[in-house]
Amino acid sequence: MSDWKLPREGGCLCGKVRFRIAAPPLLTMACHCKGCQRLTASAFSLSAAVPADGFEVTQGEPVIGALHGEHRHFFCDHCKSWLFTRAAGMDWFVNVRSTMLDDPADFSTPFIETAAAEKLPWVTTPVVRSFDGFPEISAMTKAVEEFAARGTTA
Ligand SMILES: [Zn+2]
Ligand SMILES: [Zn+2]
Repeated sequence: MSDWKLPREGGCLCGKVRFRIAAPPLLTMACHCKGCQRLTASAFSLSAAVPADGFEVTQGEPVIGALHGEHRHFFCDHCKSWLFTRAAGMDWFVNVRSTMLDDPADFSTPFIETAAAEKLPWVTTPVVRSFDGFPEISAMTKAVEEFAARGTTA
């Protein structure tokens, strides 16, 4: 039903860190929280949650950045691009910044958005589900099921 054209590759701005995605995304997201606005220097972040065993760094050594807190945000040490995040206690997936893919079109189309309460007033996204804050795990699981049923969004 869905063709994600796997495996897919991506990397940082300078090209020192490269990664490969070999499994379909579980969910694609936009996050409007203040933290993502600052980290991206833009209006919102875009991510694709990918199963951890379908994600691999193939070149370079990403380093921890951002707040150095319980959620681990990985960056290129040279160009400082934000590449992916491993959320604390949720090691079965990796949130890959989908705009870092060489061809991000389908992977970056957000299916849900989070922290919509912090959205800049001019922003509109094509999402199917919008959450004012960060949804409970049950709402997230439902969104993952809906996303799987729908297939590629491009
Ligand atoms: Zn780099
Ligand atoms: Zn955020």
